Amino acid sequence: MNKGISRRDLFKFGGIAAVGAAGAAALGGCSPKAAGSSAKEEAASTVLEGYCAPDGGWLGSAPDVKATSTVDCDVLVAGSGHAGIQAALAAAEGGAKVVVIDLVTEENRKVKGEDIGHVNSQWLIDQGYGPYNVGEVTAEFVKRTAGRVNPEIIRKFVANSGEMFDHTAALVQWPDSRIKVTETADPSISPLDPSQCICQVPGIAADGPVEYPIVRGDYKSWAAVAQFMGPIQHEEFPGVAAFSRLDEFQQFAILKAQDLGAEWHYETSAVKLVQESEGGKVTGLVAKKADGSYVQYNTKIGVILCTGDYAANVDMVYNLNTEISEWALRNGETKDDLKGFSTCDGIGQRMACWAGGEMEPSPRPVMVNGGGGDGPWGTTPYLWLNNDGKRYMDEAQIPAAWPATLRQPKGIICTVTDADWYETMKNAGLDHGAPNYGRPVYYEELIEDMNNVPVGSKEGGKCRTCTIAERMMSTVYAANTLDELADLAGYTGEAKQNFLKTIEEYNKMCEAGEDTQYGKDPLFMKAIKTPPFYACPTKNERRVNAGLVTLAGVTCNENLEVMNASTDEPIGGLWAAGNCLGGRYGTGYATPFAGNSIGMAMTHGRVAGKLATGQAVL
Ligand SMILES: Cc1cc2nc3c(=O)[nH]c(=O)nc-3n(C[C@H](O)[C@H](O)[C@H](O)COP(=O)(O)OP(=O)(O)OC[C@H]3O[C@@H](n4cnc5c(N)ncnc54)[C@H](O)[C@@H]3O)c2cc1C
Repeated sequence: MNKGISRRDLFKFGGIAAVGAAGAAALGGCSPKAAGSSAKEEAASTVLEGYCAPDGGWLGSAPDVKATSTVDCDVLVAGSGHAGIQAALAAAEGGAKVVVIDLVTEENRKVKGEDIGHVNSQWLIDQGYGPYNVGEVTAEFVKRTAGRVNPEIIRKFVANSGEMFDHTAALVQWPDSRIKVTETADPSISPLDPSQCICQVPGIAADGPVEYPIVRGDYKSWAAVAQFMGPIQHEEFPGVAAFSRLDEFQQFAILKAQDLGAEWHYETSAVKLVQESEGGKVTGLVAKKADGSYVQYNTKIGVILCTGDYAANVDMVYNLNTEISEWALRNGETKDDLKGFSTCDGIGQRMACWAGGEMEPSPRPVMVNGGGGDGPWGTTPYLWLNNDGKRYMDEAQIPAAWPATLRQPKGIICTVTDADWYETMKNAGLDHGAPNYGRPVYYEELIEDMNNVPVGSKEGGKCRTCTIAERMMSTVYAANTLDELADLAGYTGEAKQNFLKTIEEYNKMCEAGEDTQYGKDPLFMKAIKTPPFYACPTKNERRVNAGLVTLAGVTCNENLEVMNASTDEPIGGLWAAGNCLGGRYGTGYATPFAGNSIGMAMTHGRVAGKLATGQAVL
């Protein structure tokens, strides 16, 4: 279990200090290629052509190691996470002799997370969610990334994700003694049982059927995620995906691939690619075995890179995710503070770059989007006030919440609502981090906790979230007057006067039914007038890191083939999927449904496996 750190910790802000001189110097500017340098000097240099990277020292060069053994196969899949498992299954189904390598032991192999965001599976359609228009969903993804993606790569995810999900679901025959069951689960219940796996829906689903997409703040969202939540949890548990049964689902894909002859080589770590010539077609991969020796996999078809992200590699995060590094350095943090939750170190991206590829262009996203005012209500667009007691944005613009909130004065960001809080929450959209009616008991427990928040208490009350499987707690304060609420939330002096004045003006706009300040969707313009009034203040300390995972990959064409940066042609024999694949997220994780990081990894893995073996995809 991943206990001790909550998903919300990774999505929000933390401590702060003044700008460090070292940090300012490190951010001194771009790193142009040294004029007149020889190829040899360049390789040794940390200066990289084409990147504005603070110290350039993220790539290095391919290790000079010699293999002492060889293995022949058609397709080598590097990495056995979400993308790798599906790539291996698809390639094996395409008749290829497949080998999958992963650095972990077989015992420790377990996929991350709990959600599979996807559209148009029969599983969704049978529950009344879809079919949806593939083009419309694709357009929404592209809109949310401000175009910094490859729309065809997104479309391939949207169009093929339903088939990927149904295909894997059809493999699940429960029980199966070969499956390692999640320790918190009842082994007699299938991970796909409705008590374990639900679809995320908005609160309005309680009132009757909902037509999708729902449009909130000019953004569309869909009921489109299979959440392998596992058993119902009533108590607080701050782990990430702690009860998830998603790994069991993926184990069926592994077993099927193995039935078709695919081999899994554990404790085998990808080191570098083998090419027929410099920058030429990939013909294999060298990996390090547990005994320290090196093995060369010779591939007839090629290599599919599925080694995940690079959140554990601070040199890569620092140099490549400069939006994150700048925020960190300006707030007195160091490179080491940038490390995210994932343990992957970007070997797939680096191997591809050594082979002639390049990282997708800046901005390079990480999985921290969400942001805005906090609370147990997820991304519900209540009124958010900054440290000066002032409103600062259209709270329904969820994709803008994280960057816009970071730009606020350090100190408090406070969510404010009143006794009618539920009405606003139930109308919220389904963006990542949204309140989730898919498991109604979590909604009911939130109502119970809100009713129990002691009015006027300086300690406030603890409320369980209703967004995802984890039962994280938020502290909510309640008061019978707004004056008292301001005190409880920590506002004093001028900031307190602003707090009261802002709410007064906000209420006037609500009564008029129009947000003339920031243009919030009238659906959410609810006057704060009925006691008890509620506040959930959190700290905006502008602290950032790589989050759960980084989301930037290498530049690929629409067939997921890694491109040669010099020739603008595919390198050949090299595909990327999951977080190795560039062109998917652009600015951040601002998505029209949750779980699409895993949904994309699984779908693009399957698409890459099919394309590598000449199978058709949508
Ligand atoms: C705790 C946590 C919870 C998350 N929850 C969700 C969620 O609910 N929904 C969602 O959409 N996203 C979630 N994410 C993000 C999501 O899990 C990732 O984006 C997704 O797993 C990416 O899939 P991938 O196949 O690219 O990489 P991974 O699933 O990370 O797999 C990479 C694999 O490569 C292996 N590997 C690494 N280096 C080497 C090497 N040198 N040689 C061989 N193998 C190597 C790793 O051991 C791993 O097995 C979560 C992330 C974390 C960290």
